[in-house]
Amino acid sequence: LPGANTNVDENIFPSLPPLLHGHPKVHLRNGVMNASRSAANHDPDAEKAFFVADLGQVYRQHLRWQACLPEIQPFYAVKCNPDPYVVRLLAALGTGFDCASNGEINQILEIGVDPTRIIYANPCKAVSFVRNAGKLGVDTMTFDNADELYKISRAHPGAQLVVRILADDSKSICAFNIKFGAPLAVVPGLLAKAKELNLDVVGVSFHVGSGCYDPSVYTDAVMRARTAFDMGTEAGYHFSLLDVGGGFEDALFEQAATYLTDAIATYFPDRRGIKIIAEPGRFYVSKAFSLAANIIARRAPLAEASAREEHPDQPSIMYYINDGVYGAFNCILFDHQTVHPYVLAMGSSFHVAASEPVTNSSVWGPTCDSIDCVCPATQLPGALRVGDWLGFDNMGAYTVCAASQFNGFEVSNVVYTTGGFGASEVRRVLAKFAADAHGL
Ligand code: PLP
Repeated sequence: LPGANTNVDENIFPSLPPLLHGHPKVHLRNGVMNASRSAANHDPDAEKAFFVADLGQVYRQHLRWQACLPEIQPFYAVKCNPDPYVVRLLAALGTGFDCASNGEINQILEIGVDPTRIIYANPCKAVSFVRNAGKLGVDTMTFDNADELYKISRAHPGAQLVVRILADDSKSICAFNIKFGAPLAVVPGLLAKAKELNLDVVGVSFHVGSGCYDPSVYTDAVMRARTAFDMGTEAGYHFSLLDVGGGFEDALFEQAATYLTDAIATYFPDRRGIKIIAEPGRFYVSKAFSLAANIIARRAPLAEASAREEHPDQPSIMYYINDGVYGAFNCILFDHQTVHPYVLAMGSSFHVAASEPVTNSSVWGPTCDSIDCVCPATQLPGALRVGDWLGFDNMGAYTVCAASQFNGFEVSNVVYTTGGFGASEVRRVLAKFAADAHGL
């Protein structure tokens, strides 16, 4: 796995809970998977699928953010991947956090983050959750409907509210408008209601949808936010917060940053007294996690040459691996992703020869459900056998967080590394964070 052959060091995280589940048989430095076939026979954990998280990659994304969007403070969307070391690292680097629930708020507060660094960015909250947020000092929260205002006025009247407006989400893999966001036409009415209830509205948020593949939509969204700011002034408020949401795709990040920067300059030429934040999730973690999964079974339904000729489009080999759509690959169903397996270890070899003949293959998860298909059609070596390993990159966003234990399969563990540029800085920052947390 990229970055995995660098440092797997249980001492990276002094004073933190022992969450480093070093894989018993898979050593990430040398001869990674070579022992796997035979080891699998003896140790039930030796063949278990596992993630490799490169915290150095999370750090590098943060540097990229700071370089491209220095004016916008990231509030990491915890829902995307609440991994305990990712959130500790980001807390240590000074980001804020976008939380969607009591559970996420508690997780972030427990690591010592000040509640003012949290935005409760779920426009439809249970009243008990609103009350709890108030007790914990989490004041900034979004709303997009009048009922929410009534709830908040009862449960946390001192909240600092952010009106979430609709933005064009048609250029994103996961659209949200069907569920959230106030059309501009209803914003004056909502603000009037908030005034009537004596509530403080401090700003505007939007979300262009997750996995935005046309970042030009940020321009229109910022323009709408400007209109909402003006509506705020008319309603007697003085807005001081602009939240540009999430949606940032790794490959298009620099483009998105340019669109945002230009739009903010155009529509908010005088931004004195205005704090600008964002709620990136995927951008920080997607590339940082890879998954290694073991081939636990295989079938060759088209073993006969004549059968292959009859069904040329069908996979001739079906590989069954030990994580699937009910686990890490839930991203295929919920996050509309396609994944691309590659060979990590084959037989006794970690390096698969380029000349190895490949064949039409499919890859399946371990459960008894036929929806549990990881990859319906791909090219993999026909010589792969039970005990060999497949790798999957870009597995950090909306994967482990939504994995279930359907059929009794455990959620795959995470092994942490700090590969590549920034490794020593990650260690330093985490060590300092741990020391500060313990009052050292
Ligand atoms: N903010 C909110 C309110 C969200 O619902 C989401 C994703 O669901 C995010 C931020 C993170 O979005 P992304 O991962 O696309 O950056």
